[in-house]
Amino acid sequence: MKPGRDPLTIAALQARFSDEAKCFAFLERIRWPAGPACPHCGAIERASRTKSRPGQFVCLGCARSFSVTSGTPMHKTHLPICTWIIAAYLIASSSKGISSLKLASLLGLQYRTTWHLVHRIRAMMDSDLGLLTGIVELDETYEGRLTALFLTKAGPVPLKGLFA
Ligand SMILES: [Zn+2]
Repeated sequence: MKPGRDPLTIAALQARFSDEAKCFAFLERIRWPAGPACPHCGAIERASRTKSRPGQFVCLGCARSFSVTSGTPMHKTHLPICTWIIAAYLIASSSKGISSLKLASLLGLQYRTTWHLVHRIRAMMDSDLGLLTGIVELDETYEGRLTALFLTKAGPVPLKGLFA
């Protein structure tokens, strides 16, 4: 999408994040530009993808399993990862903020579930410790283009172009 075009539509968001495999692939491109990194032993690109669940890897070094959400608030969530990404996008792209009530109705979730989701997404966005991990925010200079940042110890990794 060229600068100046409209923000992503709900339909475009849904198409982009229509299943868990796409959502994990999106997060993996952000967090692991050099290939999957085992959070247990630190091995990079020495993991095989399991077929049982999307986004799951088994490390060939230490034999433990992990996913891109390991060590983040998204780990072992009962919500689809797609819901996290779409919620983060909606939060980040609403310049005046979006209420949990509104978000609950947009996402079709209970208010209480949504409140907790929003709380964790905001904590992720505010985190500057590198513990977490996912910020998805709209870059105002590239209107309509989602710029996702994953805060790591090495600093934020801009993802311009993922949503071209
Ligand atoms: Zn390992």
